[in-house]
Amino acid sequence: MIPGIRGTRDILPAEVGRWQQVERVARAVCERYGYAEVRTPVIEREELFAKGTGESTDIVQKEMYAFTDKGGERITLRPEATPSMVRAFVEHSLEQALPFAKLYSLGPMFRYERPQKGRYRQFHQLDVEVFCIADPAVDGEVIEMASAFVAELGITVAELVINSVGCEACRPRFSAALVEALGARLSELCGDCQRRARTNPLRIFDCKVPADQPIIDALPHSEDYLCEACRVHFDEVKRHLDAYGLLYRVSHRLVRGLDYYTRTTFEILGAGLGAQNALLGGGRYDHLVKRLGGPDRAGIGFAAGLERLVLALPEGAGDANVADAFVVAIGEASWPAARMLARDLRRAGLTALIDYDGHSSKSQMKRANRSGARRMLILGEDELARQQVTIKEMETGHQHTVARDQVTAELTKLRR
Ligand code: AMP
Repeated sequence: MIPGIRGTRDILPAEVGRWQQVERVARAVCERYGYAEVRTPVIEREELFAKGTGESTDIVQKEMYAFTDKGGERITLRPEATPSMVRAFVEHSLEQALPFAKLYSLGPMFRYERPQKGRYRQFHQLDVEVFCIADPAVDGEVIEMASAFVAELGITVAELVINSVGCEACRPRFSAALVEALGARLSELCGDCQRRARTNPLRIFDCKVPADQPIIDALPHSEDYLCEACRVHFDEVKRHLDAYGLLYRVSHRLVRGLDYYTRTTFEILGAGLGAQNALLGGGRYDHLVKRLGGPDRAGIGFAAGLERLVLALPEGAGDANVADAFVVAIGEASWPAARMLARDLRRAGLTALIDYDGHSSKSQMKRANRSGARRMLILGEDELARQQVTIKEMETGHQHTVARDQVTAELTKLRR
């Protein structure tokens, strides 16, 4: 046996109903808010993420599945969706093609991380992006939609956390303040933080090393260093969230692990998920489209982790559908008619199971029991001769006979 790769998972039949439920609600909510679906490739040029996600991020420095392909090109499995969505938006001039540049996508992402519960090397995201609108009303609507999505799944939310990381005008001042506040204590932080202090001091807030936390907790807050325009924007975002009746906490530590964020950042945390409790996270990225070679357009979006949503889904959500009927053929001669019966049920939109020739009626009934089908449709010589079918309700054991040409109508009625 050749085992699967560490950090990857098979989504098995017992769980797949929960996945389908999450995907169904994701699509339905996105469509209701006016988003159009886009499907981009899993492989992209490595430079898309080096430029987009950012050279100083852990994702680009340590976690990409990057390789040289047979043609000598540097390729990577995508670690996140946003740069691909921006690329597709620019490459296909979607700004002209759509009434609103609101896009969503569902699919696998790849990061070479240390696997644990809720963290995998292949995982799946719902990705949502809005381009071209800088108004804080969009931030409000995007966050409201993210909350509505999680609520519609019946998931208990621990909290909505927001922050503003400022813009290119005010962030340098904040970065300098961080380095200054650290002063001599910088040498007490972990190696990663010392590197971050040189390349991108905001990243220090991503540090998970316990010994570093007291020092990091005492650092200045980005909110206190916002320029006037960023402060007004952040106040407006909060006003929109208040108007929607959403409860939130402002956390100065929410800078998120990607380089491109400007102004608003947010996360929704799930209850009872342990250390990996971020269900979704996102923010505004007003310079990314231009940085990736497109026109100067604003952007905002979020990505939700489907594995974590599936974990957080309430018990019983997305349970597998049980079959309407299991067709049982008694005697060699009944098989052709039994197969036609199963075909007619399926064509009528009913779920029908049937065994294959050569199985005794006893083994068929055993399998029917194991399948959990609601009822057995029995076709033996008597039934064949009279053009009838015997219907046995599995729950009660009750049996009755109906005419062959009435079976689909009868089962469709019973389904309602
Ligand atoms: P990010 O793309 O890092 O902003 O993450 C957005 C969301 O994707 C997180 O809130 C998680 O729900 C999910 N996520 C990120 N990385 C992983 C991973 N390695 N395994 C599972 N889910 C992840």
